[in-house]
Amino acid sequence: MPDPSLALYVHMPWCVRKCPYCDFNSHQLKSAAPDGSYIDTLIRDFDLELPRLAGRRIDTVFFGGGTPSLFQPEDFSRLLGLCGCAWRWRRCGNHLGGQSGDHRAWTIRGYRDAGINRVSLGAQTFSTRALELLGRIHSADDTHRAVAELRAARLDNFNLDLMYALPQQTAEEAAEDVRIACALAPAHISYYQLTLEPGTVFHSRPPPLPDEDAAWQIQSTGQRMLAEAGYVQYEVSAYAREGRRCRHNVNYWLFGDYLGIGAGAHGKLSLELPQRILRTTKPKQPREYQEQARRAAWQIHDTQQPLAKAHSLPSRTYPSNSC
Ligand code: SF4
Repeated sequence: MPDPSLALYVHMPWCVRKCPYCDFNSHQLKSAAPDGSYIDTLIRDFDLELPRLAGRRIDTVFFGGGTPSLFQPEDFSRLLGLCGCAWRWRRCGNHLGGQSGDHRAWTIRGYRDAGINRVSLGAQTFSTRALELLGRIHSADDTHRAVAELRAARLDNFNLDLMYALPQQTAEEAAEDVRIACALAPAHISYYQLTLEPGTVFHSRPPPLPDEDAAWQIQSTGQRMLAEAGYVQYEVSAYAREGRRCRHNVNYWLFGDYLGIGAGAHGKLSLELPQRILRTTKPKQPREYQEQARRAAWQIHDTQQPLAKAHSLPSRTYPSNSC
């Protein structure tokens, strides 16, 4: 049986500020910039995983977070250069996610030159009031500016994250968000309902949200508008133009393999002799992750199950909220 497709997921766990609805493994920055030694740890993590992957090719690389754009283009050059040296690439899908206002002094061109060929912008909404209620650090203008920079850098393959059923949101406001998002013509739109996840600020102090009927009306109107604008729904919350589905995420749905490096990253690898699934989990806390990387003390789940029986999605692969 041929090897399943192989993806690389790289977790970058810091944000300028923690959003009150977020249950991702993200930690508020306590300094002006993330700890640069984290990149060294990622490289060590990757090197430790190498022996398990002998001869296989990586199809896609996805940098998630947190806010990956807090790191500099040179950091991505190092990581992608490492992969390029160590691996043959079948097709190169290098994805960077981030908040619209977080690319700081370094520019989108810098990321493009570092090898990033797909970007995800956490727009969420274009309403100033809703952005404030969501605790976002960016404005709608930041999102427009980021899109203009992407176009100027000829990085047209970008995703916009959009959330609906926001605190105090009306059907008209939600429809206006979808209209503006479509007018920006991204290749891909992630259209998520805001949900209250355990462990978040919103879960302990819930804001006033639209009721179920209102949320359904908002969702169905949004879906119709997206379809009319040429975005085809191919996952629960993913909508893409022709040929622009996110190959990295589709790989999860198709039970492909993924190598997870970084704090809290999960991995799943199909191994032979005997055929089985190996699952890996890295520590969630960045400091503990870096410490364990020094000792190479990862948690490994070697199921010893036949491949066909062992395929299942890890619980944290698909967060319910967007970034
Ligand atoms: S939603 Fe995104 S930007 Fe906000 S804290 Fe979570 S990972 Fe960071």
